Amino acid sequence: MADPKGFLTTPREEWPRRPVGERVRDWNEVYVPGALLPIVGPQADRCMDCGVPFCHQACPLGNLIPEWNDLVAREDWRAAAERLHATNNFPEFTGRLCPAPCEAGCVLAINQPAVTIKNVECAIADRAWEEGFAPPAPPERLSGRTVAVIGSGPAGLAAAQQLTRAGHTVAVYERDDRIGGLMRYGIPEFKMEKRHLERRVEQMRAEGTKFRTSTTVGRDVDAAELRTRYDAVVLATGATAWRELAVPGRELAGIHQAMEYLPLANRVCEGDLESSPLSAAGRHVVIVGGGDTGADCLGTAVREGAASVTQLDIYARPGPERDEDAEPWPTYPKVYRLSAAHEEAGALRTAPAADADARLFAASTLRFSGDGEGRVGALHLVEVDSGRRAVPGTERVLPADLVLLALGFSGPDREDGLVARLGVALSPRGTLARDAGFATNVPGVFAAGDAARGQSLIVWAIAEGRAVAAAVDRYLTGAAGRLPAPITPDDRPMTV
Ligand SMILES: Cc1cc2nc3c(=O)[nH]c(=O)nc-3n(C[C@H](O)[C@H](O)[C@H](O)COP(=O)(O)OP(=O)(O)OC[C@H]3O[C@@H](n4cnc5c(N)ncnc54)[C@H](O)[C@@H]3O)c2cc1C
Ligand code: SF4
Repeated sequence: MADPKGFLTTPREEWPRRPVGERVRDWNEVYVPGALLPIVGPQADRCMDCGVPFCHQACPLGNLIPEWNDLVAREDWRAAAERLHATNNFPEFTGRLCPAPCEAGCVLAINQPAVTIKNVECAIADRAWEEGFAPPAPPERLSGRTVAVIGSGPAGLAAAQQLTRAGHTVAVYERDDRIGGLMRYGIPEFKMEKRHLERRVEQMRAEGTKFRTSTTVGRDVDAAELRTRYDAVVLATGATAWRELAVPGRELAGIHQAMEYLPLANRVCEGDLESSPLSAAGRHVVIVGGGDTGADCLGTAVREGAASVTQLDIYARPGPERDEDAEPWPTYPKVYRLSAAHEEAGALRTAPAADADARLFAASTLRFSGDGEGRVGALHLVEVDSGRRAVPGTERVLPADLVLLALGFSGPDREDGLVARLGVALSPRGTLARDAGFATNVPGVFAAGDAARGQSLIVWAIAEGRAVAAAVDRYLTGAAGRLPAPITPDDRPMTV
């Protein structure tokens, strides 16, 4: 703690976003470039070094937050980068994309705005790349053992990097043509520019990790044969089986799943397509689903030039403050949040200021009606109470000629035959079942990330990747504790 009174004298200040009118005209990240570094030192100095840092507990990676806050306040960026990378393989991803449960658990947040931990993390990560503090770390010697990692999302990448650095020969198989999982084709460029992903993949290549893209294990490569070729297999295939909306009219043209829509917009940014075949340009867009995936559709539709955009959330509008009884500090509370995409959609609305939120809360879709030519023309909804019962007299009709369904994911995709061919058992929830050591019922086959945990967050996926790597390393070498395991398969976010 460079300044013991920092939290008393310095107010919280976040990395500013670019003006809405400017940022919706491009796909670049929403933040003002270069505006974080000048403010981050005094912000890191707001950390009280409180003795029992609940931020550690709240971060699934166990990031050493007070340590690197102190190092940033003292401008020792090299040491800060070393301490950050000690627990997090990809801090530039979490520094941009994590919802920061650590900040909800910050001791300062009991009666003041929390330390801007996520911003500090991002600044350290970016500075590390600029200054060359994140060079490739190839192993000194090879173990002679081989591992296939299936899936290149954050869980697969973290597992692969840990195992490669431990000396094992690792190949990552990915069914898409590019590496990154949902960070590549789900999360839009304006939340994280893909150059951050490219840089890490290059670092991993230089360390010795092999990547096999456009290869679906179970279809292009026989899964059982793969198991015999490698000493161990890690399944990190994500939870991409999307939930459906079974209401009348679902079959009409113009109704798509979010993950049919978002990858096309990402492909435009990658330069693969000139424009998206599902572009929202000139359309009245309704997004069904109030979560992050829905917000990503919102920001994308705004940038594509939608005529109007509305997001439906089945839950009631949360309050501005945490409910101290139901969700006391240090848990992550459900409060009203305005993401960058909500801010953009709201600012561009012509509705009166009181209605400047593009979201409708407590809204349930009843049916879709067509435009007479087989295409969706309107969405019929009703307000619901907390028990999801329709409130009489609240039916409404919204014009809708593009509807995007963002209702979450039920578990791993099973169409590729991977799970069946390997004989991996499923949990009652439909996710990959595993024991306390991340091992499935098939000897030498391990499971990590959303595929096993269920739909979650990048920070959890990285933690899963690191923990499964520790388990695989132990399986291959017989030695425990060579690699860190930040979580167990049963760990969950803090609740009361
Ligand atoms: C639109 C969207 C936005 C999100 N935004 C955020 C956010 O802002 N912050 C956050 O923390 N979390 C966010 N999430 C959640 C986060 O992206 C996931 O929790 C995380 O990516 C899970 O990582 P994973 O490695 O387990 O799986 P994934 O990222 O899903 O990666 C799995 C990979 O496995 C590949 N694969 C599957 N089967 C096979 C096979 N048979 N052969 C070869 N490859 C295969 C898939 O193609 C995929 O690339 C978002 C999710 C979505 C859908
Ligand atoms: S990874 Fe997420 S929870 Fe952990 S320190 Fe970073 S922002 Fe906080």
